[in-house]
Parts: sequence; structure tokens; C-alpha cells
Amino acid sequence: MRLAKDHSLVAWIGTGVMGRSMAGHLQKAGWRLIVHNRTKDKADDLLRAGAQWASGAGEAAARADAVFTMVGFPHDVREVYLGQGGIVERAKPGALLVDMTTSEPTLAADIARAAEARGLRALDAPVSGGDIGAREARLSIMVGGDAEAFAAARPFFEIMGKQIVHHDGPGAGQHAKMCNQMNVAATMMGVVEALLYAKKAGLDPARMIESVGSGAASSWSLVNYGPRILRGDFNPGFYVRHFIKDMDIALAEAKKMNLPTPCLELARDLYQKVVDLGGDNLGIQALYLAMEKM
Ligand code: NAP
Repeated sequence: MRLAKDHSLVAWIGTGVMGRSMAGHLQKAGWRLIVHNRTKDKADDLLRAGAQWASGAGEAAARADAVFTMVGFPHDVREVYLGQGGIVERAKPGALLVDMTTSEPTLAADIARAAEARGLRALDAPVSGGDIGAREARLSIMVGGDAEAFAAARPFFEIMGKQIVHHDGPGAGQHAKMCNQMNVAATMMGVVEALLYAKKAGLDPARMIESVGSGAASSWSLVNYGPRILRGDFNPGFYVRHFIKDMDIALAEAKKMNLPTPCLELARDLYQKVVDLGGDNLGIQALYLAMEKM
């Protein structure tokens, strides 16, 4: 099926922190959208700008030629794709299905198999770059699945992101995202520890970020989350509950590979302290709140 702006309808499921910006870029680029989100008012901006509303993911898929999903957890992904009356059951033959949620590699493979059996084309395409990357259309998009489906999806990815890499077959995008999350886990610990050290040593932490953030120890986490921590802004961004979900997926995958992951295990323990403080719905920079209490 050839996708074109004049005759194709694009379904977008999940209009939270990330999804609403990403879908907005497709809309601004001229794609006609049909949207669904569990909480309808989070789709208001897209609806006001002309998107159609669907009362469920399956209903949206039944009317669309390409379906993008950006929901929260693997159980949400399973429900919208494989649940009764879901996307795989109701999508049009030949439709392109793209899950951009950070989810399990094995679930991505299950969806790809179920989709193929119905003559659909499915990709896993999780992203990195945070809420800012989504807003500024600067995401890094890590894709798993069939090469032909990737070629069909690429024009959409180019609207939402800057770095687009096709890794391998189904699930490979999710594996690449797990590598991303392992790096985030390690850098967040370093960022918070260095900020606490700077404070104790009597440095101006903002100036520390300025100099370290321009050297070899710079990281996205330091440059983007460091200033938020200094402002006392612990809002998401990227929810602690989602990061815990990602670390648990990566730990489970590493265990299957017999791979020791001491850094990730330490980060998981430290983030448990954030949860124990009631911080599940804060942004991941809230690691600072837990580590300053240690
Ligand atoms: P979010 O704000 O919670 O957005 C997820 C949206 O999906 C919510 O609005 C939620 O509805 C909706 N949803 C969940 N299950 C649904 C279902 N079954 N049917 C319909 N809608 C459903 O989270 P986010 O920050 O955008 O993150 C989305 C995904 O991207 C997560 O997997 C996260 O790990 C990943 N990610 C996030 C970031 C980041 O910086 N935020 C960066 C990279 C990747 P409600 O509004 O009712 O909750």
C-alpha cells in the first residue's frame, strides 16, 4: 500500500508527554491523523488542529493506512496490538504498524509474527532524546523489523527525528533502546553524585555543569537534567516509573544472555529509593532527592 498525504489516514495511539509532540509533527507536516488516547483531553491540541477521534486503538487502526503507538508499558502495548478488537485484529490489510513505546524485544517479535500472519507490516521503533527531543523533532529512532517496512516508515521517522537507524529484525530496535537505557542509568548516577560532590566542595554547581558539560565527561543527562535539578524541577520529562520498567526489561534480557550488569543493578537499587520516597511519577532527575538523603 502506497502511503500519501492526499489519500492516507495515519492513526496515532498514545498522546502523552512524547506522543502528543510526535503526532503533532506528523500533523504539521500535512498527514491526516486519527487519534486515540486513554485520557481523551490529552489529545485536545491534536483534535483542535483537525485530527479525527477514535474511541479505541482498534477502531483507529480499522480506518488508517499506518498506525503509530506511543503508550506506556509492555502490558499497554500488548493490549492495544494483540487484545481483542485491537490493532492487529482490525488493521486494514497491508497496513504499516509502528510501535514507538519502549517495550520488550520479545513482545515486539510476537507482534511482528501476529501482524505478518494477517498480511500487516510491523516495526518496533523506540526513541531517545526525551521530552525535549520529541518537542524539537530531534529524536534518535532505533528500529527493528523488516527492511521494506522500514523503508515505508522512514519518511515519518524523518519528520520526528534526526538519527534513524535500522538495526535488524523484530525486537532489535528494543534491544538498541535497552543499550540506551543502560547508558542513561550509569550517567544519571554520575550526574547526581557529581552535583552532590560539587555542593559539598563549595563549588557553584551551575559553573561545574558549564565546565564539565563542555568536556569529555559531558552527557545529555548532565546538560539537560543537571540544570533542572538545580532549579528544583523534578517534574517529568521522563517518568521514574517508565525508567524502572526499562531497567527491569534490560535486566531480564541480560539475565537471559548470562550477562553481568553491575552498573544497571546499582541504578535499579538507587531508583527503588526514589520509588520508596513516593517518586514514581517524578522525572528521573529525582534520583537527586534519594541520593541526597543517603
Ligand atoms: P505518558 O505521558 O504516560 O504517555 C503514554 C500515553 O499512552 C498516556 O497518555 C496514556 O494514557 C496512553 N496509554 C497508555 N495505555 C493506553 C491504552 N491501552 N490505550 C490508549 N492509550 C494508552 O508517557 P511518555 O513519557 O509519553 O512515554 C511513552 C513511552 O515512551 C514510554 O514507554 C516511555 O518509557 C518512552 N519514552 C519516554 C521518554 C520521555 O522522556 N518521556 C523518552 C523516550 C522514551 P493516559 O493519559 O490515560 O495515561
